[in-house]
Amino acid sequence: MQLPQEIKNILEKLQKAGYEGYIVGGCVRDLLMKKTPKDWDITTNAKPEEIQKIFPENFYTNTFGTVTVKTGSEESSLKEVQITPYRVEGKYTDSRHPEEVTFVNNIVDDLGRRDFTINAIALSPNSEQRIDPWGGEHDIKNKIIKTVENPNTCFSDDALRLLRAVRFATVLGFKIEEKTLYYMKERSGWLKNISKERIRDEFIKIVESDNAYDGVLLLEETGLLQYIVPELREGMGVDQNLHHIYTVWEHLTRALKYTVEKEYSLEVRLASLFHDIGKPRTKRGQSHETSTFYGHEVVGAKMVAQILERLKFPKEKSDKIIRLVRYHMFYYNPEEVTESSVRRLLANIGLENIEDLIKVREADRIGSGRPKAVPYKLRHLKYIVDKVSNDPISVKMLKVNGNELMNELGIKPGPKIGLILNSLLAEVLDDPARNKKEYLKQRIHELDKKSPEELKQSLEKIEKALEEEEKDRMKKYYV
Ligand code: ATP
Ligand code: MG
Repeated sequence: MQLPQEIKNILEKLQKAGYEGYIVGGCVRDLLMKKTPKDWDITTNAKPEEIQKIFPENFYTNTFGTVTVKTGSEESSLKEVQITPYRVEGKYTDSRHPEEVTFVNNIVDDLGRRDFTINAIALSPNSEQRIDPWGGEHDIKNKIIKTVENPNTCFSDDALRLLRAVRFATVLGFKIEEKTLYYMKERSGWLKNISKERIRDEFIKIVESDNAYDGVLLLEETGLLQYIVPELREGMGVDQNLHHIYTVWEHLTRALKYTVEKEYSLEVRLASLFHDIGKPRTKRGQSHETSTFYGHEVVGAKMVAQILERLKFPKEKSDKIIRLVRYHMFYYNPEEVTESSVRRLLANIGLENIEDLIKVREADRIGSGRPKAVPYKLRHLKYIVDKVSNDPISVKMLKVNGNELMNELGIKPGPKIGLILNSLLAEVLDDPARNKKEYLKQRIHELDKKSPEELKQSLEKIEKALEEEEKDRMKKYYV
């Protein structure tokens, strides 16, 4: 095992100054699995001030004693290396991450505070000496996740470890050792004490992994899912109708599985996993032939908004996922679909999201056990999308803007401006040829004769008509 020169240099400098230094944690695990580490962690018996003296190019901000050292390397995994003094964690309250740490003099004590045996191996500078008191290397070989200490204490000290165990099992494709798994199931409720940000980060790693499907099943098996996305569990045992052979839960997890096989993005994976999450709450009728789920995409989009807000997802990511869920039911029968309805879809979903929406729909089809991912209909939709992709689909693309409109009418900013612009957009969505200054200016004056209330009502009428159309189709197809 050859270490990068930058790492060797750091370890050498520590030694020359009279200290011990080892590489430790994830990078050792990666090396033993013959993978390239994505970052490097070093542990030492030097204290933070002493580390800083040896490496003047450093920054030291956190309370756990870690000093980050700049190596001058261009490579992203080596640019900065974290050096942490041997430490154990202070007394824990309520299974959260500890607030205090205590430095210790012994590497074995430091390894003992770590979560799993596979993460508790230290490797000496020339990588001849391994300090592996808990048989981590053996567990890596046998693909086993096992806590360093008694699992009960391990999880009560920091309940995030419950989720880290699932994450490592999923990402690495390992099995969780029996006693560890037993205590995970017993203690899953402790996850309640963990901050949503820490939960979110682990959940994302699980969903982004190649084994995301097994990961979600393992979250359920361990009882952790109910503290992350309990809404998903509502679909368990919820039978659908004629068009489906799977329950809602089976359907959603299989949809996720498809997006993983296709290596789709996190947003598409989550939208697929969530797309029918509103079905249990909207189900009407018990018969397998005729039960319905009207409006499940609207209810579902609201649920997803709550889920992602709860998990503190960044707004940009969650907006996209919510939209994908909200519009996953788009209709695309080539015989009936019109260009204006595709423009309306684009106006709602955004041109930049249409490809992902089609991916969610593929996942929906495959996840329901139907054979073809991209049937003729979806290809036809792509064709229409291409055809209309230069048409105006947002207020911003109209040939008159708000300022021109106010000048034209001699009025000041107010709600009427938006109402008129949206009324113009509705007309232009029907027929893009109307997007001409002359025509729009003439329409502005006609629309100005209506009160805001009337403008609002006619916009709502269009919405309602579209909704009714959608409902009729749903009735026809039992979706
Ligand atoms: P990756 O970087 O791939 O997420 P990693 O094993 O490097 O995996 P980090 O979160 O970077 O994980 O942490 C580095 C090391 O610190 C771990 O290998 C483990 O030894 C220890 N560690 C991290 N978080 C915890 C925790 N919550 N409880 C106990 N030990 C932890
Ligand atoms: Mg790491």
